[in-house]
Amino acid sequence: MRIVEVYQSVQGEGLLTGTACVFVRASGCNLRCWFCDTPYASWRPEGVDLTIDEVVAKVEEWDCQHVVLTGGEPMLFSELIPLTQQLANRERHITIETAGTLYLPVACDLMSISPKLSSSAPALASNPHWHRRHQRERCRMDVIQRLVREYVYQLKFVVDRPADCQEIEEYLAALEDIDRERILLMPQGTHPDELADRTGWLAPYCQIKGYRFCPRKQFEWYGTVRGS
Ligand code: SF4
Repeated sequence: MRIVEVYQSVQGEGLLTGTACVFVRASGCNLRCWFCDTPYASWRPEGVDLTIDEVVAKVEEWDCQHVVLTGGEPMLFSELIPLTQQLANRERHITIETAGTLYLPVACDLMSISPKLSSSAPALASNPHWHRRHQRERCRMDVIQRLVREYVYQLKFVVDRPADCQEIEEYLAALEDIDRERILLMPQGTHPDELADRTGWLAPYCQIKGYRFCPRKQFEWYGTVRGS
């Protein structure tokens, strides 16, 4: 399994915000969001191939109950099945961060699904191949429905522009048995100015609709420093 970094930090997004976690970042993604904040795991994937035992040994360098398996797209790797099983055997709490386009029968305590909206696609003019592939693969309602049925979940949408809100409504209308308490809307951006700009209209929208507004505290705490 190709891994780009393993480090301990504090979860900055979602229902477990503020929780100390070990982050295991798989390298490689089947999508190419233009705003990807980990291009070293998608656009220009880095990292080394590690065995499951080597990944577990790195996780065990920290005395930390929570483990976040992220990427890139960790669900690309079938090794995630034995890795999550080994971590579950060690009674770790496992979060998996996925765009929800791929299914694997993993052990997982919180399936953190971040569906990618049409506005996430790279520009057609500069990236025609990835624009088409991204738009073809980004929306798999059957996969998201299965993940929501089988796991404790959060649905975390990255919102770039007001028009995205209508697309989210259409998305949610197509899914069954969704708990509104588990829907989080998060502003797109990493810089304080762009986050503040989008927070200005997104937070009130969440209040009106009964969704959770989801700040991106890691950028407030650490900026865009890798491994933080
Ligand atoms: S799905 Fe996630 S890792 Fe992949 S390109 Fe989009 S933001 Fe980056």
